[in-house]
Amino acid sequence: MRLIESDSLVLHSFDYRETSRIVRIATREAGVLSVIARGARRPKSPFGSAIDLFTSGVAHVRVHPSRDLHVLTGFDATRTRSELAGSLARFTAASAISELCLRFAREDDSGRVHDAATAVLDVIGQAAPDEVPAIALAGAWRVVAELGFAPSLDQCAGCHADLAPNDALTFDHRAGGALCERCGRLGPRGRPLPAEARETLRCWLAGAESALADSSTRRAHQRLLREFLEEHLGDGRPLRAFVTWEGQAASPAAVEHA
Ligand SMILES: [Zn+2]
Repeated sequence: MRLIESDSLVLHSFDYRETSRIVRIATREAGVLSVIARGARRPKSPFGSAIDLFTSGVAHVRVHPSRDLHVLTGFDATRTRSELAGSLARFTAASAISELCLRFAREDDSGRVHDAATAVLDVIGQAAPDEVPAIALAGAWRVVAELGFAPSLDQCAGCHADLAPNDALTFDHRAGGALCERCGRLGPRGRPLPAEARETLRCWLAGAESALADSSTRRAHQRLLREFLEEHLGDGRPLRAFVTWEGQAASPAAVEHA
């Protein structure tokens, strides 16, 4: 058993038994952890609202070396991010980022998920609703890159040949990136990747901004990202928050006023 005190971000939280909550947090010190907050649902809970979704703070955790569930002994909130709950566009996008972090998470990631996710959530929180999809897509690809899964865009993911920057190519999820024309012809699995889409992905992976031309471009990028993630997770479980985010972004006006 070791005690850690670490900058942390609440990614998920659910009730457990009568009085407790189980919380999944991204920590700087120990990657993503599941922790139990005993008594968190009591009226005089020592945690108060500190462990609400998307809150940042310093978590005090008793880490058990051989278990998957650790004990949260305190959480000093430093930032609540209530702005994410104030807009459905922001909330669904933030939930998709959170799901991505949880599904790809492992312990001892040197804090990379924590740092990338907090940065993305802060930018989503400041964005106007119509800017949110592009910002969240850029952020999701940055998290993917931080986790070491960045797709290959300038070399063929099949034969490693250099790819000309302006060619329209095929994106193959299983191969892990763009394919040259020859490899694209060999395996009919991929999706067409127009030159502009490849340039947009390149910008996002480098941490730069790139706006989306229209809603069909946005939908194509959301689908490409989700399919890429599902291929790399390989467990057949759907990415529920991603599906909700795609559905919400498809009719933002209808849902915002519902
Ligand atoms: Zn090739």
